[in-house]
Parts: sequence; C-alpha cells; structure tokens
Amino acid sequence: MPYVIPAPIQPSVPVTGSDASFPVHRVYCVGRNYVDHAKEMGHTGREAPFFFMKPSDAVLPVAAGTTGELPYPSQTQDFQHEMELVVAIGKGGSDIAVADALSHVWGYAVGLDMTRRDLQGEAKKLGRPWDTGKAFEHSAPIGPITPIEQAGDIGAAAITLRVNGDLRQSSSIGMLIWNVAETIADLSTYFRLQPGDLIYTGTPAGVAAVQRGDELVGAIDGLDTLRVKIV
Ligand code: MN
Repeated sequence: MPYVIPAPIQPSVPVTGSDASFPVHRVYCVGRNYVDHAKEMGHTGREAPFFFMKPSDAVLPVAAGTTGELPYPSQTQDFQHEMELVVAIGKGGSDIAVADALSHVWGYAVGLDMTRRDLQGEAKKLGRPWDTGKAFEHSAPIGPITPIEQAGDIGAAAITLRVNGDLRQSSSIGMLIWNVAETIADLSTYFRLQPGDLIYTGTPAGVAAVQRGDELVGAIDGLDTLRVKIV
C-alpha cells in the first residue's frame, strides 16, 4: 500500500572499509558517565548514570576523510560539545547479562553529543524534559562505524577532542563509570534494544561552547577520526 506522503529517509552511518552503511534505529545517550564530567556539572561523580534519547534523524553522519558541516542551532547562546564513544548495536535484546553484552555490539564510532547547554540548564532547573537542549537536528555527529572485530579492545583507548587545534577534552574509555558492557546491560532493563540502536556512552570533562567557524576533531584510538565544522 502506498504512503500518503513521502516516507522519511532511513538515517544511516558509513562503515569503515565498506560500501554498505549502518541503518540507525534509536539513539540512546548516557548522562554523567565519567567522574570528572559529573563533577564539573556539579555532582559528586558517584551517581548512577541515566539515559535520554535523540531521534534517529538527529544523526549527522560524517564519512572518513571528510569534514561534516554542523549548522549552529537556533534558540541558544551556549552550544557545547560532548565528545563520546558510540556503541552500535547489531543484535537486540532485553535484560542482557553483562557477560553477554559485548556479543550485541556490531561496532564502535566516534561521536559528539552536541548540546544547547542554556536550554538544558533551564530544563534541569524547572524539572522539564531535555529534548530542546539535546534532541534537535544535527545534534549527533558521528564518524564511520568500525566493526568490533576490527576495532579490537577499546576498553582503555584514549579519547580526545580538539577545537581549532586546542585540546579541549582528553581521557580514556577506561575512565567510564559504567563500561560498555554494563551500560548495555542496564539500558536493556528499560528498553528492548534493537539492531540499529546507537548508544552515546557519555563525555569526559572539558565540555565547552563552540562558535561558527570552529573546527572540531574527535579521536578515539583504533577508530576513524570525526571532523566537524560549525557553520
Ligand atoms: Mn553526553
């Protein structure tokens, strides 16, 4: 049966070393998953992480060797970067055991959880949802996904973000409060994970505002670098 309006385009992400791409189902994000970032946001660094979502069409896929153009969004004067490891789910499930969790991972990528910090801060203060601060168009830039068998063990990989060449964020995946397997296990107690889900695993300290013209380079050892320009 035909649709009455054109069907939405399936968002997808390039895959390292392949012409095929990874179709995106949902985009989950983990809040406060590095102690140093939790502290810079005014918390003790010991709270359990929590989850929020972005729509799949918030993804801004950036192919290897290219620079993605990220439009400065409306309604903010404090547009901030959050550099993150992204987990791509290849096999779905609910109530996944920690010991089984990595078998659900298809691959890893470098991502940015771009945030209208002023709107998020206001929402926190008023006890309102974060959507306008977090879930807007192009708010989830992502580099190519590297299949897990090629990425190897990224559990202690270095994670960095440079803005115009200056080091803004620098940490290790080993500093995650909840590691990748624990995050998948916990998230799967709230939602049935599906093939195509992405999980932005949280950001280390050093989040800060960007301006039009800024060039962001995100890197995680073993994965393709993500390059984005704010336009
Ligand atoms: Mn984040």
